[in-house]
Amino acid sequence: MIVVIGAGVTGLACALSLAQRGRDVVVLERHRRAGLDTSTHNSGVMHAGLYYPPESLKATLCVEGRDRLRQFCRAHQVPHHESGKLVVATEPSEESDLEPLAANARACGVEVDLVDAAFVRAREPHVRATRALWSPHTGWIDAHAFVSALQRQVEAHGGHVLPGSLVLAVEPAGDRVEVVTPLERINADTVVNAAGLYADDVSRVCDGELFTIYPCRGEYAELTPKASRLINGLVYPVPHGSGHGLGVHLTRTVAGTVWVGPTIRYQSRKDNYEADREPLTAFLEPTRRLLPAVALDDLRLGGSGIRAKAHPATEQFADFLIRADRRHPWLTHAAGIDSPGLTASLAIGERVADIVGMR
Ligand SMILES: Cc1cc2nc3c(=O)[nH]c(=O)nc-3n(C[C@H](O)[C@H](O)[C@H](O)COP(=O)(O)OP(=O)(O)OC[C@H]3O[C@@H](n4cnc5c(N)ncnc54)[C@H](O)[C@@H]3O)c2cc1C
Repeated sequence: MIVVIGAGVTGLACALSLAQRGRDVVVLERHRRAGLDTSTHNSGVMHAGLYYPPESLKATLCVEGRDRLRQFCRAHQVPHHESGKLVVATEPSEESDLEPLAANARACGVEVDLVDAAFVRAREPHVRATRALWSPHTGWIDAHAFVSALQRQVEAHGGHVLPGSLVLAVEPAGDRVEVVTPLERINADTVVNAAGLYADDVSRVCDGELFTIYPCRGEYAELTPKASRLINGLVYPVPHGSGHGLGVHLTRTVAGTVWVGPTIRYQSRKDNYEADREPLTAFLEPTRRLLPAVALDDLRLGGSGIRAKAHPATEQFADFLIRADRRHPWLTHAAGIDSPGLTASLAIGERVADIVGMR
């Protein structure tokens, strides 16, 4: 029996890959439903994979995961759309930032084109741009529908998803372990740690290797319905100088609303979505940079999400932590799954199933 801890997209995708390979698998989730944490608190963008260091897990699993995700969405009626995305230079001084981004994308095997202001005007007449990078294979998906479809597929392949099952302890039992929840003890030969923001705590509970997950909040504002008509697709600024995020961008969502964000702020708590929210005024300048016609009245506060980062604010990059535990061979981690984890999830599942299969 394989126990997967966490029913976000990572844990569900791991469970699906394992179940498809004929393994007995159960997913334990502390909440009353799957996907209530980061998996449904994100931008829902199906990333093409422009930004990550070539050869990194983020780059390779994003590209592989996007193809798998597109096929999965088609096969299981998950709303999605390959709308393309523009990364825009809003003034000539930013244009030189587009070329290294284009070179990085191509080194990762991602198709992009450098385009002129007329190209942008034809797609996004209200966006300010002197030049841009066009990524035709970026799109969006309905993350809620994806979580539900993943769970249905896990169950259709004989796996089980048990909500309301907070993992409290993992105890040795001969050459196996017992996974303890408030309701039961499950005897397992393999444990997959897909606990998102809590993956470091879960590793500790398993007596596994020590690492730290740093919670990093991203907040959104939304355009009002009237102002939403000013945007047709996905519009990003040139990347954030900090390296921590992609910059506050404009995302037309499944529901037709336009989200502005997410912002970036490291915080100590893993469950604090709302306290000390950014004021609406903080979104005005970054929005007007891309979309000058917007006024404060055109914005309202939106949701927020918390990234499970594997590096502190003082560092710029950490890769996904997907590997067998260094202390216990029965434990495999799929941790530090921040963006592009939604896009990469199905590829992460395959990678984890490969690691488990090698034991
Ligand atoms: C603001 C924001 C925007 C983003 N935008 C995008 C985007 O546009 N595109 C993209 O590809 N990615 C995006 N991401 C990243 C993406 O959302 C994540 O990579 C992905 O959702 C991670 O899924 P997960 O399953 O690893 O984590 P989670 O969804 O957090 O799932 C972990 C699960 O483990 C459970 N759990 C924890 N501890 C225990 C325990 N002890 N016992 C039982 N269960 C436990 C939790 O309850 C939770 O349900 C974004 C993230 C944020 C925060």
